Amino acid sequence: MNKYALISVADKTGIETLAMELERMGFTILSTSHTADYLKQFCQKVVLVSDLTGFPEILEGRVKTLHPVIYAGILADRNNPAHAKTLSELKIEHIDVIAVNLYPFASVCWKENATEQEIIENIDIGGPALIRAGAKNYKSVTVLVDPVDYANALELLKQNSILPEKFSSYLAQKAFAKTRDYDAEIAAYFASQGIEESITNELPAQLEFAISLKRKLRYGENPHQNGGFYAKVTSGWELIHGKELSFNNIMDIDSAFRAIRLFGKPTAIIIKHCNPCGIGSDETLAEAYRKAYETDTEAPFGGIVIVNRPLDLETATLINNIFTEIIIAPAFEPGVLEFLKKKKNRRLIRYEFSLLEKPLNPIEIKTLTSGYLAQDWDLVNESTENWKIVTNKQPAPEELEALIYAWKAVSVLKSNAIAIAKKDSVLGLGCGQTSRIDAVQLALWKAKKFGHDLTDSVCASDGFFPFRDCIDTLAKNGISAIIQPGGSKNDAECISACNELNIAMVFTGFRHFKH
Ligand code: 5GP
Repeated sequence: MNKYALISVADKTGIETLAMELERMGFTILSTSHTADYLKQFCQKVVLVSDLTGFPEILEGRVKTLHPVIYAGILADRNNPAHAKTLSELKIEHIDVIAVNLYPFASVCWKENATEQEIIENIDIGGPALIRAGAKNYKSVTVLVDPVDYANALELLKQNSILPEKFSSYLAQKAFAKTRDYDAEIAAYFASQGIEESITNELPAQLEFAISLKRKLRYGENPHQNGGFYAKVTSGWELIHGKELSFNNIMDIDSAFRAIRLFGKPTAIIIKHCNPCGIGSDETLAEAYRKAYETDTEAPFGGIVIVNRPLDLETATLINNIFTEIIIAPAFEPGVLEFLKKKKNRRLIRYEFSLLEKPLNPIEIKTLTSGYLAQDWDLVNESTENWKIVTNKQPAPEELEALIYAWKAVSVLKSNAIAIAKKDSVLGLGCGQTSRIDAVQLALWKAKKFGHDLTDSVCASDGFFPFRDCIDTLAKNGISAIIQPGGSKNDAECISACNELNIAMVFTGFRHFKH
């Protein structure tokens, strides 16, 4: 009986070693045409998928691996005798390892002069299906979508033919995240094609619906302004304790949802005046909250706290140590509500996770003194695949994690915004500034004011750096890596400043202004 490993990749990074090592471990390498041609230089034997299935690759590569022999080999439950019987009757063999990465849709799509045909051909169909099949059967199938995981997977497979569950579920999570992001990019492309129509259709419908749902508020942003709230309060969240919500409360709550949806690990965010003043993540909520509080130990007073896990008593006790106006959680562990309800006026809000997936309103509308502006939501969901390291220095893995964290943080701040961060906490935030250097200085000043050691911390900027002064200032303060959109006339000057100062810099190609 053969042990098969299927390798079908657009990005060939690292597949030589992967294939050779797998072959050494007794796997037969199964592959698609171009990948197979490449691997033949390194492996004793490479079996073409079309030879195994007896069905050729057709339609210029649109159908390569989409065959029941392949999917049954991946999806069969190794512990189910009926599945084993079917496989043996049909002479189908297991495929235990899958290394697949996808046609580079996003980079082709955003390339200048890309034709529609080229873009459509870069929608990978069989690759995501392979990845999802392997990830569904993750307890028996090793599914590799990222070259950085090849070495660890090989090491673990050498020790045992079945990966430890912790690692295989990590790989499955990465696999599903990959296909999700890939489809999001494709959807974004189609949305960008139909944008005008969608906005003109949605705007009147959205406004009409909202107006029918008016709830009067005591007043608007200030007591001399009238105010109303045009929505069902029960659309994904509800006030379960405390005084009636005010206009400003609702704006803050909305900012909290926009921010927390970007963070996966247990995370706490403290909001003041629609901007986060503290963000922290950790294995436990209590630690996450501690970090969020430590970002800035003055601003949280009178603020609102949002968490992305059921609120436990330890975290609730920490939050309760200072005056916190609103606490927002997806659920409250036993005893927590009773504890928090002791403060009569404090507002407690419970929300549904589905609220974090995407806004319920199809578009974002802003009111002008005359007319409205409408736009698609900035979901901050661009793929990191298109990020470019533009400096000689490459960010270390820890720095890259910190850059991703800082990038999420900065994207939810008012522009011009700067976030200084480590891999799971924000150390200094500068937002709402009219010049970028001011935002840089403010973020650094705040970080130092609250005693943070900035050595090896990183910086994110929501828009590009217009001049090298920002880089010089960051370098002087120990920042080791920077992430920013790029796209300034002065990019070259900023890149050479980073090279001079031994700073790694990543260009995202996306900016996240928030005016
Ligand atoms: P190769 O370059 O080896 O010929 O093809 C590798 C690429 O094809 C991978 O990026 C993989 O995701 C993709 N792929 C594998 N099977 C199929 C299929 O059945 N249809 C399509 N459209 N792409 C596939």
